[in-house]
Amino acid sequence: MDMKSETGGPIGRFRFMNEQRVNLDGFATPAPELGLVAFDGPNDPAPSIRVIDGRVVELDGRAEAEFDTIDAFIARYGIDTGMAEQAMAIDSLEFARRLVHPDVPRETLVRDAAGMTPAKLADVLSRLNAAELVMAMTKLRARRTPSNQAHVTNRSDDPLLLAADAATAAAFGFREIETTVPVLADAPSNAVAVTIGAAVASPGMLVQCSVEEAIELDLGMRGLVSYAETVSLYGTEPIFVDGDDTPWSKAFLASAYASRGVKMRVTSGGGAEALMGGAEGCSMFYLEARCVALARAMGAQGVQNGGIDSAAVAGAVPGGVRSLMAENAMVMLRNLEACTGNDALMSESDVRRTSRTHPIFIAGSDFICSGFGSIQRYDNMFGPSQWNAEDIDDFLAMQRDWGVDGGLRTAAEPDVAALRERAAEAVTAVYRWLGLGDFSAEWAAQAVDAAGSKDVSAADLVLPMNASRTIMDTGITMLDVIAALEENGFGVEAARCLDMLKARVTGDYLQTAAIFDEQMNVLSLVTDPNRYAGPGTGYRPSAARQGEIDNIRQQVSVADLRAAQRAHQTSAIRVAGIAAPDHDPRDVVIGVSPATGRDVWVTLSGLPVTDVIDELLAGLEEEGCVGRLVRFNRSIDLGMIGLGAARLSGSGIGIGFQAKGTALIHRRDLATLANLELYSVAPTITRDLYRLMGINAGRHAKGMTPEPVRNPYSDEAIEARYHTRVVSLVAMERSCCRDLDPELMEIDR
Ligand code: CA
Repeated sequence: MDMKSETGGPIGRFRFMNEQRVNLDGFATPAPELGLVAFDGPNDPAPSIRVIDGRVVELDGRAEAEFDTIDAFIARYGIDTGMAEQAMAIDSLEFARRLVHPDVPRETLVRDAAGMTPAKLADVLSRLNAAELVMAMTKLRARRTPSNQAHVTNRSDDPLLLAADAATAAAFGFREIETTVPVLADAPSNAVAVTIGAAVASPGMLVQCSVEEAIELDLGMRGLVSYAETVSLYGTEPIFVDGDDTPWSKAFLASAYASRGVKMRVTSGGGAEALMGGAEGCSMFYLEARCVALARAMGAQGVQNGGIDSAAVAGAVPGGVRSLMAENAMVMLRNLEACTGNDALMSESDVRRTSRTHPIFIAGSDFICSGFGSIQRYDNMFGPSQWNAEDIDDFLAMQRDWGVDGGLRTAAEPDVAALRERAAEAVTAVYRWLGLGDFSAEWAAQAVDAAGSKDVSAADLVLPMNASRTIMDTGITMLDVIAALEENGFGVEAARCLDMLKARVTGDYLQTAAIFDEQMNVLSLVTDPNRYAGPGTGYRPSAARQGEIDNIRQQVSVADLRAAQRAHQTSAIRVAGIAAPDHDPRDVVIGVSPATGRDVWVTLSGLPVTDVIDELLAGLEEEGCVGRLVRFNRSIDLGMIGLGAARLSGSGIGIGFQAKGTALIHRRDLATLANLELYSVAPTITRDLYRLMGINAGRHAKGMTPEPVRNPYSDEAIEARYHTRVVSLVAMERSCCRDLDPELMEIDR
């Protein structure tokens, strides 16, 4: 036996706890000198600013002569110098209070924050506790209507599967789709496939292909993607320079996208500098405050942050998850679009990862997840996301539970199946037309049906690379793809893709936090501003949207359950007359509920009620007793039915049975609620157990004291699984109540 006394290891309780999934996660003792600390690093500067003639000459304790490139860029472009001295003079705690106060409008806060330095905003936001962060985020996010972003990738860069999964993501409500590659050379093919798939499902889908920056920009210039977000920023100069970058080069890149009307946001996130060994003794949150200030200074419209690739680093230290959310709130306070992390899987524990996301989910964000893996974990080429296809139904149930719009909606299987088929057809047609490759019918059929790339054995792994080479070598642009769609009977999709190119020219989706709704309206800081000012204000889902949130595909109505019962209806149970008392000592009455053989035909465990009765009768017969079937019509109470049965029976022992499956043994001299034996957990009761109840009833009738029957044990959420059906079945029982004496019933054989 594995016991402490023999092994010297921990006792069983701790061995058991150590095996739980949360203990796969890493937890770090804070090491501030390494940047392994969420807030208040030893080298975090005190906030300060000095402005002379509109020029910042001191920033967070550093004089202009000592500025590194990040300081210099922020000082020059990232501070509203007209506001700075006034804003910096506001007490940090007082400003923190304004962030949660419903009467202080967002515009005022954004105006003041524009004059604040990174250290000041870090100081302000570090004072909000978790609940206050929820309030601040509710008020501060730019766009009123929340949204969500999906990852659509797979291990084989299969264009048909990418397109089918992009269409699926759009069907579930995602408005941005991000793809990437396991094989860099496949990127152009992935961009085309995802764009086509998204257009099959909806107008106005934003698509990006996250790859090396020059290729990504090239794809954007060709119109093959419609946004970019992987322009990375870092909070210390050495880490920035490691990537051959400066704030100026990143600003140039941002401008390049804007010049072609392509939406872009930058990426940063607490913990990255510590992960790369360059935190310089500063806290994750302060360094992220520098990144967010840089984003503002560069003119980017938004930031994807909240840990991102280093979320697990932040998650390893005390307060780290709170700092991830505070990063997001800081982006909002800087008047930028917030793509709020919940991207890389932060924990192996379902509880911890839900806890990490949930406050942001209820507060609402421009994009709740900056990468919800709409495909299965194993197909997520960014690495598993915090949320994946495995969790879509959980996420939808959470939306419904709280009445919250997390950007997703339920989707019906036939609709998704049709979209996937059309997406595969469209890609097949376009690739053939443009000479990019030919897909077999078997491949297409597998991709349409697939839950993931493991289900597509017919995929040719070389096709995406050849297609990509052709796209790059022959200068294929989105216009060629549109023409191919139009020529092959995909006019709707062609028009949707063309609309995305037109949108670049008008430029409206360069507005902060812009997405398109399904009517191609731009929703942004400008057209759909968040003006939360306390209860009754801000975002409330429309009735139609609330319907999408509430009416998930799994919900069942009483009418559904009635129909399901009718499908089991049988004429085998019928009334044979009025039930009279009997005096035979071997007589045991099986009393059944009013709906038995009227509206309810099958128990919660799936057994036909006639089978249950057969088992009870057979058990009685084994003990030499004779069962008599009687329907009680006046009450649905199982105790009353069982006691009534006992009083009619010659032996004084009765069995009570409710059509949903609960059953008990009663004796005529007992009080209603004091039965002899009870099966209370109907869904778990098997045919054998009903037989055993019949046997025990027979033994009671003979004056014996049998070992009582026991409810089978289960550690599953039996009540969650069955309670809605129980409510309906009980209602059906009640509607069958009649002012009728007990009836003798017979079962035809
Ligand atoms: Ca993303």
